[in-house]
Parts: sequence; structure tokens; C-alpha cells
Amino acid sequence: MAKLYFYYGVMGCGKTTALLQTEYNYSKRDFKPLVVKPKLDTREASYSGFAPIQSRIFSGKHQALYVDSITPESLKGIDFNILLVDEVQFFKAKDIEFLSEIVDKKDIPVVCYGLKTDANGNLFEGSAKLLAIADSIKEIKHICKCGSKAIMHVRYVDGKVDFSDGVIVIEKGNVTYDSVCRKCWKKLKGLER
Ligand SMILES: [Zn+2]
Repeated sequence: MAKLYFYYGVMGCGKTTALLQTEYNYSKRDFKPLVVKPKLDTREASYSGFAPIQSRIFSGKHQALYVDSITPESLKGIDFNILLVDEVQFFKAKDIEFLSEIVDKKDIPVVCYGLKTDANGNLFEGSAKLLAIADSIKEIKHICKCGSKAIMHVRYVDGKVDFSDGVIVIEKGNVTYDSVCRKCWKKLKGLER
């Protein structure tokens, strides 16, 4: 029986690299993997339809299908027997429900990679749904600058810590993120007692 998998981890932990490795492994076994990404991924903002995937470690000609949402229409006419979803946190609960239909009705494994929480420590909608209904949930670990396990994100706008609401603030300035442990996150947020 196919399963719905959720591999979560903070930024920079190597989720896309893990996805591309999985894609490679399945390709070697004559499977037909399809990689799907949300269109709004800011690093590749303008992509639509099939376009290259960028990864810090892998170079090569990996392609992903960039979609607004995961629906029967968006996957129509594409032949695949394993589905890999990158940046899954940006999809909605209804997209995740449809992914579970692909698993349960077509017996096709769906492997999702994404962040669990945003810079304010709140669950993303897609990730919350996956935590609720995925068959298999695993963490890809990363390390804070202090050496503890990184589980939170800090957003910097033009080098200053920014905890304002909203996920994407490209219009504000140069936005970067760091992955930190909860203690360092509280310290940066001014929550330390
Ligand atoms: Zn730390």
C-alpha cells in the first residue's frame, strides 16, 4: 500500500537535496517520479509549468511542475507513479486532502517536503494538514549556531530581525532567514525571561 509521507525541517536542512536524491533513486528503478512545487516559492518566483529546480548541492537538469494548487486539472495528462512535493507548506489543506486521494485511490506514493512553522512559530496550513493525516512523518534535522537542534526560523529584513506577520515580505527589502533553536529564537524575539 502506498503512503503519504511528510519530511519536515527548518530552512537549510537539505529538504530539496533529499527530494532530488529520492527522485534519482526512483528513476534508477524505472519509476516515473513527478516533482511538484508551489508557484509562489520566492526563490523561483516567476516559474510556471515545467521549469528547473534549484538546489544548493545538486546541479543538473531536474525539473518540477510549478502549480498554484494540486488538483486533478493541474496534473492532467502527466504520467507518473510517484509524486514528490517540494515546499509543501505553501499548499492549502484541500491540496493535501487531494494528495491523500492520490495515495488511497491510485496507490501512488506521495512524498512531501517542507517547513513546519513560519518565522513567528505558527504552523503553515499545508504542514498542519500533513501532520494530521500523513502516514509517515519524519524530521530532517539541522543545527542552530549555538549547537542545539534548530527548530525555529528568524527572519531578517536588511539585516534586522523581523517578526512582523506574513510569510513573504519581498517588497520590504533584502529578506533572509536563519534556522535557530527555540531558546535563541526567544532571545531574538525578546521573549526571554
Ligand atoms: Zn540556539
